[in-house]
Amino acid sequence: MNDSYLHDLIEFLRIPSISAQSSHAKDMSQCTQWLETKLRHAGLDASIHNTGGCPVVIGKSRNLQVTKPTVLIYGHYDVQPPEPFEEWVSPPFEPEIRDGKIYARGATDNKGQILAHILGVQETLQTEGTLPCNVIFLIEGEEEIGSPNLHSFLEQHRAELKADIIAISDTGMVKHGVPTLTYALRGVAALEFVVQGPSHDLHSGYGGAIVNPATVAARLIASLHDASWKVAIPGFYDAVRDSEPWERDAAFSAVSDSDLIEETGAPELDGESGYSAMERIGARPTAEVNGIGAGYQGEGSKTVLPKNAFVKLTFRLVPDQDPAQILQLAENHLRAHCPKGVRLEIHQGHFGPAYFFDPHSAYGQVAQATLKKTFNQKTVLSRCGGSIPILQSLKSVLGADSLLLGLASPDCHAHSPNENFPLENFYTGIRLNQIFLKEIADMPFRGDIRREDIAHATRIC
Ligand SMILES: [Zn+2]
Repeated sequence: MNDSYLHDLIEFLRIPSISAQSSHAKDMSQCTQWLETKLRHAGLDASIHNTGGCPVVIGKSRNLQVTKPTVLIYGHYDVQPPEPFEEWVSPPFEPEIRDGKIYARGATDNKGQILAHILGVQETLQTEGTLPCNVIFLIEGEEEIGSPNLHSFLEQHRAELKADIIAISDTGMVKHGVPTLTYALRGVAALEFVVQGPSHDLHSGYGGAIVNPATVAARLIASLHDASWKVAIPGFYDAVRDSEPWERDAAFSAVSDSDLIEETGAPELDGESGYSAMERIGARPTAEVNGIGAGYQGEGSKTVLPKNAFVKLTFRLVPDQDPAQILQLAENHLRAHCPKGVRLEIHQGHFGPAYFFDPHSAYGQVAQATLKKTFNQKTVLSRCGGSIPILQSLKSVLGADSLLLGLASPDCHAHSPNENFPLENFYTGIRLNQIFLKEIADMPFRGDIRREDIAHATRIC
């Protein structure tokens, strides 16, 4: 344990770098300066790049070696808004250590995890004088608001950011202390609809002659699934691939139903028939209602027939499903099921495809070996139910796959009050980075990273 590492973490967590709130613009820029200084102190070249939104911070090895592979380590310095403040045991930007965990907004997502990588590089440079492979840090400030400027930044800096492989620590471990390689994430597609009825809220005495928008919204929601929780939108499953047999043994049995019940507080598990809970989360697409509203919400009763009703939906998608097509199928389905007497307005929202990386590929094996050596136990493979849309941009622009070496514990409360990161995970992350870079050093690397690219890469800083 090194006190200066903890000191760095506390300093980083004290900066309220909330990308969603414009009142924190100064904090965002203070955070980029803190990172630039930290990367330089770690022994890397560092620079801050404007993007039109929150800046990107780049760090890279000082002496790029043409004969070694290049790893790009991606992370983000922005955090989610901390509200509601009253639910925090200690203030979100005054880090506090309790029972071996540091509590602060951003502790897990993603400051603790990205800082562990930086400190791993720092320690290697201090002890060995050189890194076993080339390293580029790409640390953005808009991940929590959907990375609106990152894709174009990647396109503009494609040559400078070229890498053989990308490492990201922004996912979780299936259980505390269990090394986990996440090899797939679901995609997402959002849709909102409004059922418009009469021009104003009516006395419910009009009921019977006027179609109630809230009842229609409920009918439309109910039409999304059949009785066995299969999504009932025609064509929804057309592109869905079956899971591989090895996944049932390796990936879908790592978390038991009772663990999942404990983690979520749900009374019981249920879902699409024919699949285990973990397979449903990782490898099956879903339709979820995220928000619903209509009529009187206050105390007591009010005999009202509401003028409209709204519903917010997202679909979690799996590889080969095209998000834009899914949204169109959903829109067609809702229109086909909408009764007469109301007007249906549909707004298609943001979307991103699913991500899948073969964990048995050469780099997948490097990731598994790294985790095994770091934790001294077998790596669990996992498919994550959530999404990191930027993975597709990294793949399509930079042409490299991403290894998801997550260090978050299931009870880390990311995005919620009392976010925390076990210090053990923080120090493990520092060790993991050192082992990872050594493992990568022996990998064959892409021949197309030549001297002229390295000249470019030098220019970026
Ligand atoms: Zn987050």
